[in-house]
Amino acid sequence: MAASYGYTTCNEGRTMASHEQMADYANRGKMYIDVNSWIDYAFMKYMHSQWNSNTYKNHYRIGGLKLTLDGSPQGRTAWRTIPYLIPPDGQIAGYKGYPAIPNDADVESIADSAFANNWQIKAHCNADASADQFFRAIQKASAKYGNKDRRNILIHGQLIRMDQLDSLKKYDVIGSFFQCTHFTGEIGMWKLLELKKPNKSVPLNPLWKKE
Ligand SMILES: [Zn+2]
Repeated sequence: MAASYGYTTCNEGRTMASHEQMADYANRGKMYIDVNSWIDYAFMKYMHSQWNSNTYKNHYRIGGLKLTLDGSPQGRTAWRTIPYLIPPDGQIAGYKGYPAIPNDADVESIADSAFANNWQIKAHCNADASADQFFRAIQKASAKYGNKDRRNILIHGQLIRMDQLDSLKKYDVIGSFFQCTHFTGEIGMWKLLELKKPNKSVPLNPLWKKE
């Protein structure tokens, strides 16, 4: 499908056991556009394979490690520091979403492995509490291993705070923000709903700030 739109490179954003199929597909010479896998941290063994390389082999390679730290705003599972204005069914007022990995020590150990091996991290952080957790881990790992040209990525970032843009710069992390979802579909509707509420402290995707 990607090729039909003219794309010549595709990202597989969170690769688990499907890496085996893609590697097999590449080995058989079936890929005709470049595919870049981001290996889920639970499948770290693949990071040690020949596919983890800066160059493609038969149009396939592993680009780095995917670290998913929370859910999504539309599912109201993104992990925030302030409560959702409208808690989802079954949740009480004050609900803030939740972390994907509750213990900082676990996130730090993943970041430590990535820094030690020079693996690029793509961290899925939709809301500000998960971004804070990512920055805490990065801070420790970069103090230990240095932080030169690592090109770590914070991806989605829909409910991060404006001050976290400074943290992106401080830790030399690339911010990659969702934008099309703001104008279309369920999430756009949900955001309009949140915006109508008189709560000025609700952080939104920084890309939205000027509107
Ligand atoms: Zn993601």
